[in-house]
Amino acid sequence: MTAKELWEKALLELQEKLSKPNYQTWFKNKTSVTSFDEKTVEIGCLNTYAKDFLDKRYSTLLKEVLDRLTNKDVKVRFVVDKTLEKAKTTPVPLFDLEDTEDKTKESTIDHKVMLANLNLKYTFDSFVVGNNNRLAHAVAISVSKLPAKSYNPFFLYGGVGVGKTHLMHAIGHEILRTLPNLKVLYCTGESFTNEMIEAIQNRRTGGFRSKYRGIDVLLIDDIQFIAGRDTTQEEFFHTFNDLHSSGKQVVMTSDRPPKDIAKLEARVKSRFEWGMIADIQIPDTDMREAILLSKCKEKNISVPQEVLHYLAENVTSSIRDLEGSLTRLVTTSTLLNKPLNLELAAQVAAPEVRPVKTSRVLNAKDIIDKVCEYYNVKLSDIKSPKRHAEIALPRQVIMYILRTDLGLQLMGIAKLLGGRDHTTIMYGVDKISKTVEKDTNLSGQIGEIRTSLHN
Ligand code: ADP
Ligand code: MG
Repeated sequence: MTAKELWEKALLELQEKLSKPNYQTWFKNKTSVTSFDEKTVEIGCLNTYAKDFLDKRYSTLLKEVLDRLTNKDVKVRFVVDKTLEKAKTTPVPLFDLEDTEDKTKESTIDHKVMLANLNLKYTFDSFVVGNNNRLAHAVAISVSKLPAKSYNPFFLYGGVGVGKTHLMHAIGHEILRTLPNLKVLYCTGESFTNEMIEAIQNRRTGGFRSKYRGIDVLLIDDIQFIAGRDTTQEEFFHTFNDLHSSGKQVVMTSDRPPKDIAKLEARVKSRFEWGMIADIQIPDTDMREAILLSKCKEKNISVPQEVLHYLAENVTSSIRDLEGSLTRLVTTSTLLNKPLNLELAAQVAAPEVRPVKTSRVLNAKDIIDKVCEYYNVKLSDIKSPKRHAEIALPRQVIMYILRTDLGLQLMGIAKLLGGRDHTTIMYGVDKISKTVEKDTNLSGQIGEIRTSLHN
């Protein structure tokens, strides 16, 4: 395989894995493989800026893709490739200043959106307002118009898949659009915790603090994750106080109100209650139908009203599942060339509403053993507090399968996995269900595990 062939294959995979804007901004015609051997793949980038950014943001993903394509454990290195500049065929990339002013302005915002960690899909425009979220939406609008001056902090809570993360990103987008000089950052309670632990281990707490304290709008998702972790709580408390007292906006989401977060220190709890607390309820059928309709418009697909109605009535678990059903339905109809009607919907779109047929009765132990075997990890490691990815992923896959295929309660799963907190289980299940939607690797792995369980 030549370097060019390798990179063409890699690009095909990247195109699938990344959003279109990210792929076009960073990869298409803007990268190359300059050299590769058994150990190292050198990736050419347009300029130093792109080189640093790709290294920081995409090195893990690139390694994963290149390992697979080369069938080796390679080291990925980034270099500036001058020939790319000349070969450039697509419109000017983000950071070239030679373009018109407008474009530069737009591009800078794109770039900020990326650095802020915002998902391009989650904007106010794509958020449907209804009875279940009216107050939360109004507060979010107000916060994005007057950050730190209307409601600070803004604490948003609600069950899984009701739109908290979406609304939070929307605030970030709107602020960057109207006040592009503000520094916005979205992170999760988990990533905050991990970053902090890493900083402590590497004795870089100073850098960690100044990063978070230099932010104008901090969006921190699933804050319940930090509860019960003393050092993280302490650090977050200081960061929060610093930001709040210097007039910076903090927005937090959680699966429950502050008062119900067990193990959250009283002083932290009371700080959370200083500003505005709003919740998002589970949407009713009409709202679910409205959301489906808006997703169809967004994706430019037409689905008969009765089919949307059927899905809205039958898939009640979460909006994420609802969207998943719609996607499955549309994909099946396209792939198998079948009409998109009620019959097909009943067959494929909503497995949640059909009893799961299994060829044999499964139990939790089978599932746990099978996942351990599949990922080649020990059960004792799964039950241990170890957090590195080789253990954490199989652990979360176990949580996910136990929850979705056996319908076990969170507490039950927590017990089976060495007595963890049930919020950790909820988090794990949620994380895998989100990831399988976009990560074909992971969905393939889970598919294989399931198949082997039923044989
Ligand atoms: P949560 O963070 O509460 O678990 P998310 O924000 O991740 O939920 O939402 C799950 C999915 O449902 C997302 O794809 C999101 O776009 C969609 N969704 C939720 N509420 C709405 C809404 N009101 N309008 C449009 N899409 C929504
Ligand atoms: Mg969320």
